[in-house]
Amino acid sequence: MTTPDRRNARSHLFYQTDHPRPVLDRAEGIYMWDTDGNRFIDGSSGAMVCNIGHSNPHVLDAMRRQMDKSTFGYRLHFVTEASEALAAKTASLAWPGMDRVFFVSGGSEAVESAVKLARQYALAIGQASRWKVISRFPSYHGCTLGALAITGYDSLADPFLPMMQVMPKVPAPRAWLDGFNPDDPATGRYYADLLDQKIRAEGPDTVLAFILEPVGGASTGALVPPAGYMEAVREVCDRHGVLLIHDEVMSGGGRTGKFFGAQNWTAAPDILAVSKGFGAGYVPLGAMVARGDLVDAVLAKGGFAHGFTYAGNPLACATGLAVIEEIERQDMMANASSTGALLKAELTRLMDRFPFIGDVRGMGMLLAFELVADRDTKEPLPPALKAFDKLTEQAYSRGLIIYPRRSRGGYAGDHLLVAPPMITTPAQVGEIMDRLEPALAAFAKECDL
Ligand code: PLP
Repeated sequence: MTTPDRRNARSHLFYQTDHPRPVLDRAEGIYMWDTDGNRFIDGSSGAMVCNIGHSNPHVLDAMRRQMDKSTFGYRLHFVTEASEALAAKTASLAWPGMDRVFFVSGGSEAVESAVKLARQYALAIGQASRWKVISRFPSYHGCTLGALAITGYDSLADPFLPMMQVMPKVPAPRAWLDGFNPDDPATGRYYADLLDQKIRAEGPDTVLAFILEPVGGASTGALVPPAGYMEAVREVCDRHGVLLIHDEVMSGGGRTGKFFGAQNWTAAPDILAVSKGFGAGYVPLGAMVARGDLVDAVLAKGGFAHGFTYAGNPLACATGLAVIEEIERQDMMANASSTGALLKAELTRLMDRFPFIGDVRGMGMLLAFELVADRDTKEPLPPALKAFDKLTEQAYSRGLIIYPRRSRGGYAGDHLLVAPPMITTPAQVGEIMDRLEPALAAFAKECDL
């Protein structure tokens, strides 16, 4: 495999990358090719976006059909068939009563929309004192300043601290790291009690909402909530009149085996944010989905003061609808569960060979493994080693794309997400492992582990 250095000092782009990257030529299914003909397995669906795989013909046809009709209609001038249809479909996939949909173009916008709706609802019902949004550490909710204020990831937030009203945080329920049994309902209750204590400490009448990622994304590395946690959190929020927001930007769209990740448990949110797999890499698309009575209360008091120019774009919505049709037609969520279980078993098997893999976690096709210096103490590898970076490059040079992040909330720890498209077959799991295992071996040699 050749990975030519195409970085050009005079390039107008300044995306962050410490490594040369080839030029993308085409992509199909789970594969991507550069302009030199090298083939890559998209083992992370981009950034957990391309859930249904690349170049799906049904979606491309739907896009072409919509392009022939119209590509833009401003939401204050027109409703479009595409946006109406996708809103109805999205509401049908959410919980009963969560039947109002507000389209946006990405995850950060969806989160901002959720927080702003919550605040305007509090104002509408005469609870102006409620403004704090409690979130978890670590967490990632987006890069705009509002979403960053609730994000628990120090290295991303620290440079902007003077510019933000930083919001209170509670620990994410990392049972593995904290040494608890994730299958014991007492563990879920323990972490929900930390939320209860935080709400009391802040003053319940100042707390507007609590936001969580139902299955964690890049910040926690596919953290699955411990038994009883989701239900206990719902109960704590209800007790204090705090709205519950689910950030389904990464866990939504089917990759956990359910369309919304939280549907793997019983508790419903009041508002949710979805993006990534919603447009599945075909278009920039996201949505906020909310309880109808919240929206009605806000509308009755003069309307929702919020909106983006591209909200409800017909091309984006027609595409999003076609994505959901394909997920259902090909039963992709069932495949995410069954093939995801196979992939997780294969990743777990690697722990026998590589002692520096401390944990394998996740569900469906949202999986991750964490690297440690010591499996018993869970001490992270020295940050200066840049382990996640090195392993990513070892995989990349073998034609496998995986997604690296710091695991301990910004400056330390290493985990890597393995989250291929939901269409991945068992044979393709084999192809992924045929690249990942030698990459790990080469990484161990490079770092003397
Ligand atoms: N929320 C979660 C859970 C995410 O994983 C992300 C992106 O990774 C976002 C929000 C922000 O989405 P976007 O990058 O589309 O703004």
